Formats: sequence, C-alpha cells, structure tokens
Amino acid sequence: MLADLHLHTCFSDGTYTPEELAAEAHRNALKAIALTDHDTMEGCPRLAAACEQLGIEFIPACEFTAELDDIEIHLIGYFLDSQNERLKVELVRFQEVRQRRIREMVERLNGLGVPLRSEAVFRLANCRAPGRPHVARALVAEGLCSSLDEAFDRFLKKGKPAWVPKFKMSALEAIDLIHQAGGLAVLAHPGLNRTDEVIPQVIAAGLDGLECFHTKHSTWMTEHYLQIAEANRLLVTGGSDCHGMSKGKPLIGTIKVPYQYVESLKDAYHKRAVDNGIMLVQRAVENSGV
Ligand code: AMP
Ligand code: FE
Ligand code: FE
Ligand code: ZN
Repeated sequence: MLADLHLHTCFSDGTYTPEELAAEAHRNALKAIALTDHDTMEGCPRLAAACEQLGIEFIPACEFTAELDDIEIHLIGYFLDSQNERLKVELVRFQEVRQRRIREMVERLNGLGVPLRSEAVFRLANCRAPGRPHVARALVAEGLCSSLDEAFDRFLKKGKPAWVPKFKMSALEAIDLIHQAGGLAVLAHPGLNRTDEVIPQVIAAGLDGLECFHTKHSTWMTEHYLQIAEANRLLVTGGSDCHGMSKGKPLIGTIKVPYQYVESLKDAYHKRAVDNGIMLVQRAVENSGV
C-alpha cells in the first residue's frame, strides 16, 4: 500500500495527460496519488475520474511558490476546495503573472538575438500555467537550443540573461490561502534551496506538514526532515515530483510512501473540516444573538 503525493500533468509543466498519469500510477501499483500542478487545479477532475476507473485514491492539491526572507519555498495545499472563491481568483491571477513572465523571457531572448516567439511557447505549453520548462522546450523545438539543459544553462537559470524573477507571495499569504480553501499546507522538498533557515517561521505561520520523501532528498535528508516533523508534530508526506518526460525520464514510481501517511493526512483534513464547521456554526449562533 504505497502512495505518491507529488505529481504534475500537462496542465502545468508535466508532460502526461491526467489519463496517462493515472495509467502510470496503476502500472506502479500506487494505491493513492495527489496532483500538485503549479498554480492550477484544472487537471484534478480528469485525474479523479481516471483514478476512479482504476481503483486509485485521488487527492486534489496544488503547488504554490512563496518566499520568506528572500528564500523561495514551495507550499503544497492538499485537499483544497477548487471551487473556493478566493482560491479561484488567486489562481487566475498567478496564471496571468506566469503568462506575462513568459512574454518577458521571450523579449529578453529576442534582445539576445534568439528569434523565439511567445506564441510558440504558448502553443507548446497549451496550458494556463506555463513556466520556464515550456520556454526551454520551445527553444529546442524551434532548433534554437540542442537540449533542455542547454536552454537552462545558457538562458533560463537564475542569473542567466533570459531569466526573469518569478512572482512569489509571502509564505504567510500562501498558508492562509490554503487554509481558507479548506486545505492542509505542506512544505515541499525542504532539502532544496536553503529552506532549513526558515522552517521555524513557516511552522509558526501554521504549516501542517513536511514533504520528507522526495526524489532530490538523500537518505540523510529524509531522516533529518522526519525528525523535524516528529519534533514539531507535523504531518509527513512525500512524492516523486514527476513531470513526465519533461526532465528526461519519468520519476513516478521512484518515491513511494507508506499509505499510513495518507491516512494521517486524511484524518487531519477531516478533523480540520469538522473544526471549521463547528466554528462556522458558533459564529452563526453568535451573529444571530441567541
Ligand atoms: P518556473 O516555475 O517557471 O521557474 O520553472 C521551474 C521549473 O523548471 C521546475 O519544475 C524546475 O524543476 C525546472 N527546471 C529548473 N532547472 C531546470 C533544468 N536545468 N532542466 C530542466 N528543468 C529545470
Ligand atoms: Fe514543476
Ligand atoms: Fe516544487
Ligand atoms: Zn512539483
């Protein structure tokens, strides 16, 4: 009984369709999966349907980019209500910012004499939440770079000439957004960046869980984060962060977490939902003056 709680589809920067991802999850004998596309939940209904057909449990989620003390962190909201009004408004805003960033990166490339058109990137991305991987893929598709690595190394990596900083909300805002949409906030891949420095502050801001298992975590890191999670009574999650074929080979199946962590995540979600319900009833009673 194993799960992968960090996966992307073609609705953000992955290459699998929801149906292909479900088939891969089935092939890897996963009992539960979560979709964590960047800044969009559009793939969730289709993946939920495909998972149901295959007897796989599905958890809707979304990965947000945030920052704290100038350190970029990624926060995953699990069990988000995709119909939550504020979440819907914010997601559209994040998507518009992403599209604007693509145009800015293309303008920089043009300034460097690289004749890429933003339409080519948008056509290839074919989604509302495009990112640098789509620019890299378009550069390769147009014959302007020979590989994705070359596109990143020459142009797109942080500090390279076509790199444009990404919009990031504060960690506090992200956690609040996730909570008010009924979700649980989990700090993704803390082993990347210099995340350890800000973990105490993110916990103080209401963090619910820590992604201890991740493709880029060494055994040592996983142990380290499991200890931090235990010491701070945080939920434990993990996943492959599979982007399909967009980073060479698909990562799904490389990280499988025991189902007990999914149980704990579901318990916390249900408990939170009950608490929120009680709070709403209390508030309604107070307001009615009874
Ligand atoms: P963005 O959100 O637009 O800044 O793009 C971030 C995405 O680009 C993440 O999924 C990264 O894993 C991916 N990425 C960063 N560096 C590279 C690289 N050298 N090759 C392929 N993908 C990369
Ligand atoms: Fe990504
Ligand atoms: Fe991430
Ligand atoms: Zn991810």
